[in-house]
Amino acid sequence: MSRVLVLNSGSSSVKYRLLSGAERLASGMVDRIGEAGSPAADHGAALKTVATELADAGFGLDSPELTAIGHRVVHGGTTFTEPTLITEEVIKKIEELVPLAPLHNPANLAGIEVARRLRPDLPQVAVFDTAFHSTISPAAATYAIDRELAERLSIRRYGFHGTSHAYVSREAARAVDRPMGNVIVLHLGNGASASAVSAGRCLDTSMGMTPLEGLVMGTRSGDLDPAVVLYLERTGGMSPDEIDTLLNRHGGMLGLCGDNDMRAVEKRLAAGDPDAQLAFSVYCHRLRKYVGAYYAVLGTVDVIAFTGGVGENSSLVRETALAGLEALGIVVDPVRNRRGDRLISTDGAAVRVAVIPTDEELEIARQTLEVISRTNRG
Ligand code: ADP
Repeated sequence: MSRVLVLNSGSSSVKYRLLSGAERLASGMVDRIGEAGSPAADHGAALKTVATELADAGFGLDSPELTAIGHRVVHGGTTFTEPTLITEEVIKKIEELVPLAPLHNPANLAGIEVARRLRPDLPQVAVFDTAFHSTISPAAATYAIDRELAERLSIRRYGFHGTSHAYVSREAARAVDRPMGNVIVLHLGNGASASAVSAGRCLDTSMGMTPLEGLVMGTRSGDLDPAVVLYLERTGGMSPDEIDTLLNRHGGMLGLCGDNDMRAVEKRLAAGDPDAQLAFSVYCHRLRKYVGAYYAVLGTVDVIAFTGGVGENSSLVRETALAGLEALGIVVDPVRNRRGDRLISTDGAAVRVAVIPTDEELEIARQTLEVISRTNRG
C-alpha cells in the first residue's frame, strides 16, 4: 500500500499526517513557529521536528516505503486548476501568486522547500485550496467592476477550502446514491464557505478573491457592502491594515458577541444572552440565504451537506439554518439531527440533508497519488 505524507504548512504551524491508503499511521502538529521560546525557530526546524516524530513512531522520513509527499497550498490563482507535481518551475509560479495570498503561500512554500531538501528524490505534489473551484463559470467568478483593471490585478472569485468541498460533495453524493447529483456543501469551521456542486463540478462558491467573502465566520465578517470599507477609512479614520484586522480577525462571531467559538455562543444563547442571540441569528440567516442562492444556481438539489467543526457538531445551527424551507423540499428530522445521524432529513423529503465529516488530509493524499500514477503512466 502506498504511503503518503501530507504536510499543511501554515504561517505559524506545520500539521502532518502519514497515511497508508485511508489508514492514519502517524499525525501531529508543530506550532508556535518563530515565536519567542518556541523550539521551532522556522519552518526548517519545524519539519526537522516532524521528521524526528515520524522516526520515533517507526516511520522515518528516509523510509523507502514512503511514496510521495502531498503539500497543501492555499492559492493556485488561475495558474493551477489541478494538483500538480512540484518542480522548480512550479515553485516559481507559486511564488508569483504570493501577492494573492501574502500570509499563506510563503508558508506553504517554506514547507515545500524544506521537504524537498530532506527528500529530493521523492515526488512531491502541491494540492491547491482554490483548484476545485476553477470550474465555476465566468458569470460566477467575475466581479462587476472595470474589466481591464480586474484582469490586470487578477481580481476575481477564486474560492477556498477546495479540498474539503471536493471530498464532502463526493461523499455526500455517494451517501444518497446520486454520484452525479447536485450538492450544496456548507463547510462551517473557524472559516466557513458554501459551494454549489453538480456532477462533481463546482458551479459557485461563497469565498471570493480572498477567504473574507461569504458566510459569517468565527472572526471574519463575510459579505459586507464594500462601501463600508471606504466609510471606515474616510469617516472612521482607519488605515487599510486596521480595516483588514477588523474584518478578518475581529469580525464575524467574535465581533458580534465577543466569542468566536460556537460552543461558547450556544451556551450564552441558552442563558438568554442577547448579544449571542443576535450573533447566532446573523450567522444562520446568512447560511439560509446561501442555501437559497445555491438552490437557484443548481435548479434542483439532491443533498445539502454540513461539514467542519460547527457543521458536524451543532445540531442547533443545522436546524435553525434550514427551518421553514419545507416548500423547497428541505425538512430536517429533529431526532436524527440531534442524535447526529449521517442523514438528518425526514424520509420522503425531496432534498436529503447529510452530515459528512470532512477529511482534507485524506483528500490531499488521494489527489497526490492520482498525480503520481498519472505521471508514471504519462
Ligand atoms: P478549522 O476551520 O480551524 O479547521 P474546525 O472545522 O475544527 O476548524 O471548526 C472549529 C469550530 O467548530 C469552532 O468554532 C468550534 O466552536 C466549533 N465546534 C466544535 N465542536 C462543536 C460543538 N460540539 N458544537 C458547536 N460548535 C462546535
